[in-house]
Amino acid sequence: MNIRNDIRNIAIIAHVDHGKTTLVDKLLHQSGTFRTNEQVEERAMDSNDLERERGITILAKNTAINYKGTRINIMDTPGHADFGGEVERIMKMVDGVLLVVDAYEGTMPQTRFVLKKALEQNLTPIVVVNKIDRDFARPSEVVDEVIDLFIELDATEEQLDFPVVYASAINGTASTNPEKQDENMEALFDMVVDNIPAPIDNREEPLQFQVALLDYNDYVGRIGIGRVFRGTMRVGQQVALMKLDGTVKQLRVTKLFGFIGLKRVEIEEAISGDLVALSGMEDINVGETVCPVDHQDALPVLRIDEPTLQMT
Ligand code: GDP
Repeated sequence: MNIRNDIRNIAIIAHVDHGKTTLVDKLLHQSGTFRTNEQVEERAMDSNDLERERGITILAKNTAINYKGTRINIMDTPGHADFGGEVERIMKMVDGVLLVVDAYEGTMPQTRFVLKKALEQNLTPIVVVNKIDRDFARPSEVVDEVIDLFIELDATEEQLDFPVVYASAINGTASTNPEKQDENMEALFDMVVDNIPAPIDNREEPLQFQVALLDYNDYVGRIGIGRVFRGTMRVGQQVALMKLDGTVKQLRVTKLFGFIGLKRVEIEEAISGDLVALSGMEDINVGETVCPVDHQDALPVLRIDEPTLQMT
């Protein structure tokens, strides 16, 4: 079996304020993927209209970081239980998670909620004990709390054997030793590359791309974000869009986007394991599969039974 050793797909999960945003920011800066003069485009949406549409991305952001030749795709996840369906769909796109836990606060309700979803999907976890710089940080107790939580959530033996990295996202430091921080986050990058399974490379097989999230942009309209689970998808290719109601539409792939840093960039093709965005299909929906016209094979539909969305 061939694998894509050049790529890792992870989600970052945490209780609110435990430092996800700061951590991703520092990882971007340290990898050099992100140039300091770059304006980060806010993908805020109109909270009254678009968010009500099922499956529209609300808090999800994708970041792609290049680290020593490996592309690390990081999907941000909303921690709130109202977005359970969205969290599940993000978990379907990735092979592992970074569980960020505050070294002083320890595990919290949203830690439990998002970890449960990750373990259910059988993802490989890495635990990041963040804010190790805080007064009264209690890293070893917090790791014990995390172990207890894994046990309560019926983690497998393998999942329970999670690696731990101690970090201060705000200072841009990390280490596998709670007593001593390295002056960079390489310990964390290395842990991702070494522990998170690389995607399977089956680029020669018939295409299967599944939409996990929707986004919208004034220039290109509706955007389906998802993973190429099998095969290759190219701009210009004639494909079948397998709708949830069982009907099939023939369409052409007009634009494909990959991610660099926090930005989307147009690309010509995507292969198995890639997380990409597709535009030009105005009625594309969450859970739908894109495949070759002569090889129609829909992926199992992801759950989309989102409760009524309420912004807090
Ligand atoms: P998010 O809600 O998980 O995205 O958390 P943020 O990244 O927004 O961080 C929440 C707060 O914690 C902010 O005030 C950050 O400056 C702070 N913070 C993040 N990382 C650290 C850290 O390593 N040490 C300390 N002391 N504060 C941090």
